[in-house]
Amino acid sequence: MEHLRVHDKEFTPYLSEKEIQARISEMAAQINRDYEGKKPVFIAILNGAFIFAADLFKNIRIEAEISFIKLASYKGVKSTGKVITAIGLDVDLHGREVVIVEDIVDTGKTLHQFLPQLEHNHPASLRIAALLHKPDAMVHPIRIDYLGFTIPNKFVIGYGLDYDGLGRNIREIYQLVEKP
Ligand code: 5GP
Repeated sequence: MEHLRVHDKEFTPYLSEKEIQARISEMAAQINRDYEGKKPVFIAILNGAFIFAADLFKNIRIEAEISFIKLASYKGVKSTGKVITAIGLDVDLHGREVVIVEDIVDTGKTLHQFLPQLEHNHPASLRIAALLHKPDAMVHPIRIDYLGFTIPNKFVIGYGLDYDGLGRNIREIYQLVEKP
């Protein structure tokens, strides 16, 4: 694999397609064991998680459902921070075993805001599957139940992740080359 240029930035290979697929198959094996007979529902968060969710789901051998949501953030009326809402949640999560599928947990802010909203639906259980995690960027600690890779606090693209719209279709994960 060679260096890659996307828009104005330079990226270097970080995780190969083989490494990603091998790890995903291990994650799926664990989920298959944990959810045997429980008919879990996977909720994948668009856009970034679409490829990861597809590859993970292809490796799920037990009965399971999947649905996709988009998170939109807007300024709340009173609060100073942004409020996150889910668009497209078309499954009743009440009493269900729910697995959130996320591309990357960075600061943890997104899930920190969104998880309590999901809890309102009273799922039987709620777990997180994330392909990537940057512990050094974590502001809101999130428990990740199924984690692909722990990575350094550097911007990555590929495998569903974009830089300003581009790079999602790359089969590997590339890391930003930081120039002094
Ligand atoms: P958090 O709320 O945990 O800080 O951020 C989560 C979201 O930020 C991810 O779902 C992803 O869309 C985006 N994000 C965080 N780090 C990266 C990164 O290194 N590359 C890309 N392309 N997106 C990122």
